[in-house]
Amino acid sequence: MTSSSVTGLWKKLSNKFSKPTQYAPPSATIIPRDEHCVSRKHINDAAIKVIRRLNEEGFDAYLVGGGVRDLLLGGQPKDFDIATNATPEQVRGAFRNSRIIGRRFRIVHVRFGSEIIEVTTFRGGHDAPSTSASNNVQRNKHSARTESGMLTRDNVYGSVNEDAARRDLTINALYYSSRDFCVYDYVGGMRDLEQKLIRIIGDPETRYREDPVRMLRVVRFAAKLNFDIEQHTEEPLKRLAPLLTDISAARMFDEVIKLLMSGQGLQTYALMQRYGLFSPLFPSTQKMLNQHEPAAETIIQQGLINTDARIAENKPVTPAFIYAVILWPVVKRIHKEILDSGVPEIPALHQAAERVLRKQQLTVAIPKRFSLPMRDIWELQSRLTRRSGKRAELLLDHRYFRAGFDFLLLREQAGEIEPGLGQWWLAFQEAHIDTRGAMLTQIPASDDKPRTSRRRRSPRKPR
Ligand code: ATP
Ligand code: MG
Repeated sequence: MTSSSVTGLWKKLSNKFSKPTQYAPPSATIIPRDEHCVSRKHINDAAIKVIRRLNEEGFDAYLVGGGVRDLLLGGQPKDFDIATNATPEQVRGAFRNSRIIGRRFRIVHVRFGSEIIEVTTFRGGHDAPSTSASNNVQRNKHSARTESGMLTRDNVYGSVNEDAARRDLTINALYYSSRDFCVYDYVGGMRDLEQKLIRIIGDPETRYREDPVRMLRVVRFAAKLNFDIEQHTEEPLKRLAPLLTDISAARMFDEVIKLLMSGQGLQTYALMQRYGLFSPLFPSTQKMLNQHEPAAETIIQQGLINTDARIAENKPVTPAFIYAVILWPVVKRIHKEILDSGVPEIPALHQAAERVLRKQQLTVAIPKRFSLPMRDIWELQSRLTRRSGKRAELLLDHRYFRAGFDFLLLREQAGEIEPGLGQWWLAFQEAHIDTRGAMLTQIPASDDKPRTSRRRRSPRKPR
């Protein structure tokens, strides 16, 4: 072999092995207007305006994600997301009423009155071969990954077909164009919508490692749409669930709300339990459940049933209530321990709440505007039993009386306490002022005493 042919062979081999595998973005199946049911009539005006404006500026822009998915399923989308080839700065330049948000994943919020339209620049693959040194530098600047494979920066921009491959589920990667009214399907989303399947795009393990929240999204949409989870999408869930501990506690707070307060909380919770996704979020509660703490499972499930029912009736729900329910079994356990050490009932409850909330902040950061009412809801459970004198009247004016009362009813419903007190409060609220006086005289004296600690405090030393 001559030296030049050796060099040639070496070049060929090094080309083959040192370069990342050539990334082939998927091509689209185009579904024409007469073969799908997405109509401009059902798309909100603000979203259409954003698309039009971007088009006028010479950019491509599509409706994508939940908006297209829900319209294809005949439902009413919660919000409308837009994907474009304009960079966040270019989008920002096209709309006065907009701002760039996020660092890990930069997007633009365009505001129309009280409405916000989310505009996302097409994302590209992080493993795409870079063709020039400057491109490489840029990609490094916009992309960062931890050792476990988690993307801590996901701001590599790309083309629409690359963008499709970067989305989470096939059914969330359908693009609607208001130029030709066609739906563009790059990853088989239409087929999965028809077959009612939740399928992650690409290699499931890699995609979960890149962003473990995708595992939560899998169960959320499976529950919300009542779809099955495709076999390869399902397989790594249990194994990789512990990766959720790497997600920031602040991001987790928003995710939990979407999981448990979207109307299918019970079903979502059941799937989270099936795949071990609840434990990394609420480790203390999971410990109670594992110890078969009586009533823990029942109260959580009943709390979710009640929340789902309220959402179905368009009644307001607050995260404070659902978080108060989930952490209640832990609060109760620690409250008892502190009571047993001799601390009086209400201070013991304060200490228990403090301890439980402090630990919980490590995995799901509950903002103060919710943790304060949670503490009140818990405290009201003690105070609602003590009703004599002016106490009951005063409690009716408590800021969180309603939530505390609902919580009491839930505890009765879940069999945690004997029924009766809830009914009494219901009657008391509705009673005439004169009847209220009579009701107060019938309260058993034992109900009014604070619970005493078992262990006596040591007697004071004589001076
Ligand atoms: P809904 O708004 O009804 O809850 P959605 O699918 O629109 O559902 P969003 O959170 O609004 O959910 O996200 C919009 C789109 O962004 C998704 O449909 C999906 O294409 C993409 N997406 C969201 N989160 C991720 C993620 N973690 N990884 C990859 N793609 C994602
Ligand atoms: Mg959305």
